[in-house]
Amino acid sequence: MLSYISGKIKGKYVLSAGKSVRRNLSECTTYGLGGAAEIYYPENILQARAAYDRITARGHRPIILGNGSNVLASDAGTETPIICTKGMRGIYVSGTNEITCLAGTMVGELVRYCISQGKGGVEYLAGIPATIGGLACMNGGAGGKFISENIISVRLYVGKTVILDNKSCQFSYKHSTMRDINAFITDVTLKIYPSDSRLITEKVRARLAQRGNLPTGRSCGCVFKNPSGNYAARLIEGAGLKGLRLGGANVSTKHANFILNSGGRARDVRTLIAVVRAAVFQKYGVRLQEEVVYIGDFNDSDG
Ligand SMILES: Cc1cc2nc3c(=O)[nH]c(=O)nc-3n(C[C@H](O)[C@H](O)[C@H](O)COP(=O)(O)OP(=O)(O)OC[C@H]3O[C@@H](n4cnc5c(N)ncnc54)[C@H](O)[C@@H]3O)c2cc1C
Repeated sequence: MLSYISGKIKGKYVLSAGKSVRRNLSECTTYGLGGAAEIYYPENILQARAAYDRITARGHRPIILGNGSNVLASDAGTETPIICTKGMRGIYVSGTNEITCLAGTMVGELVRYCISQGKGGVEYLAGIPATIGGLACMNGGAGGKFISENIISVRLYVGKTVILDNKSCQFSYKHSTMRDINAFITDVTLKIYPSDSRLITEKVRARLAQRGNLPTGRSCGCVFKNPSGNYAARLIEGAGLKGLRLGGANVSTKHANFILNSGGRARDVRTLIAVVRAAVFQKYGVRLQEEVVYIGDFNDSDG
């Protein structure tokens, strides 16, 4: 069995098993927003299970965080303990044309691994700033392809280990059964295909070039899911909201489904999301649904 670990685990994530730190969620999310929480940083599956058991023994169900690239955490933080998987990284060959990624493995690491090993099939993911666990939970993807197409199975920990095959994950657009049951994905087994490293590199480069048009700045990517047969960005732009600013948050001028943190608070972003949702409903009668996941209490009535 080949074990492949790429990149270095940053020192700040390395803690001994079962220990937690109190830290602002702003340090753990791409929005750069969010107040304090108790956070566990397991580095492997054993530590992850220990953290999960410790938290549940105290009567909590942990919030699982990957790279925090699809979440908006409240300014007040949360009292619910968090398990951040960022230290749980590694890729193992688990069968012919089959690899298993620990939940915290970053998409970039997976793509680099596939290039180095001449394995194709995941090039479309290049550039998504996500962990494989987060991506599996959200069934993320790009260019009309979703990670569910590559997933053979996911392993969960819910006080005991459970393996779900692809069908049992009940993947749909930006959704999986793991979201419904708030499960902890510890690792994900993916199918990949023999290919030519040069061809894979070309596809990855093309993908990254396409993504060069996306807004830079602190965001969670697309805030809303695309409604059936339409694009949320098109509706938001059509409602005249591109560039709209509210406090320290603004609708991107490049891509209207991106709401950027321009030096504000989570509350500003949350309020702007509600304003955009209401304006699109008023103009088109379409109720946009958030793709972004909220963490903590926002103390408002518009969520
Ligand atoms: C600049 C930018 C561009 C983006 N582009 C894309 C894109 O092209 N396509 C796309 O699909 N998304 C995109 N996103 C959104 C985001 O990267 C994806 O939704 C991704 O799936 C989130 O992964 P994460 O590891 O950051 O998860 P997080 O944001 O940390 O978590 C997201 C959800 O998954 C859950 N979760 C995370 N890890 C686990 C786990 N191990 N077990 C159980 N639950 C877990 C969390 O509880 C939460 O509900 C983009 C975001 C940004 C900031």
